[in-house]
Amino acid sequence: MPKRLAVSNRVLSESQVQLFRHDLLSWFDLFQRNLPWRKTRDPYALWISETMLQQTRVAAVIPYFERFLARFPTFQALAEAPESDILAYWAGLGYYYRARNLQKAARLIRSYGAFPDTYADIRALPGIGDYTAAAVASIAFGLLHATVDGNVLRVLTRVLDDAADIASARGRRHVTEQASVLLDRSRPGDFNQAMMELGATVCLPSNPQCLLCPVASLCAARKRGTQHLRPVKTVKTKSIEEHRVVFWIEEAGRLLVWQRPEDSRLMPGFWELPERSELPAIGVGESLGTFRHGITLRNYRFDVRLGMAPADLGVCRWVPMDALSRLPLSTVLKKAKRLVNKGDKAVATLRSSTASS
Ligand code: SF4
Repeated sequence: MPKRLAVSNRVLSESQVQLFRHDLLSWFDLFQRNLPWRKTRDPYALWISETMLQQTRVAAVIPYFERFLARFPTFQALAEAPESDILAYWAGLGYYYRARNLQKAARLIRSYGAFPDTYADIRALPGIGDYTAAAVASIAFGLLHATVDGNVLRVLTRVLDDAADIASARGRRHVTEQASVLLDRSRPGDFNQAMMELGATVCLPSNPQCLLCPVASLCAARKRGTQHLRPVKTVKTKSIEEHRVVFWIEEAGRLLVWQRPEDSRLMPGFWELPERSELPAIGVGESLGTFRHGITLRNYRFDVRLGMAPADLGVCRWVPMDALSRLPLSTVLKKAKRLVNKGDKAVATLRSSTASS
């Protein structure tokens, strides 16, 4: 006998579950967004898209996905590519350990000879968690595994008016069990995508579009007016503001930069502008402007300042400006470069004086 879905103190009947699946999938068939990874069932391409979509918005991922797939169309191509190439194609997406894990996993897959086709084998690949494994298993291979991300947690806790605390592992486990019961048996991949699509485009965090919702008639939170109370999430985190100074030191068409070591916890192998920690004896010049940059819970305000190179360059190296585009650059360096190239007078003067000397 099929499990029933608990909706607070009542349950969705089997016929309501069928109706939910039917209405959600019909809506998805008609209104799903046209996204490049929706045109394929290739597990490799789906895996790349799901990895990019972790922590990054859909609109930002699309061009990265297309460029990445054009350059590394198969797991063999990814396995054989130089790491610096992969990082350069990933630069801007952040969380670079994801790109490194992709290559590690691609090399393993190459040793298997084919992309694994069971949930357990996909889940065992480096960098793949429950969510990505379920997405690839269900969409590429039609396996019955429910995907549960932030969107699905929100949709489900509202549809079921479930007060489970999704900040706790227990609460998430509970909602995941509910998602598994609700999963459509004949189209699990489409159903998973439809749940995520509903959360991303209709059942929005602070402004759910209930009048446009295909499952509104079955939604317990809508009936009770509790949409804004779901999901329950008790942990509140506050972002931290931090002010940092990076130095722009340019001389004879070269820029002074340094490379993060390979064993660095943060962005190993990437090139950065120096800060006071790399060049303690630096001569500090005028400010060229500021920009903001956020990393997880930290909000940085970077001040880009002209600097005079000290005698001891420490870990820094001169790199010709026209060679920079071939290196994996940190987002901070890229943002600073854009800011400086906007036509700052101080840099223009510096460039013309070094050109004429
Ligand atoms: S009816 Fe409203 S709250 Fe319920 S699932 Fe649809 S959009 Fe979300």
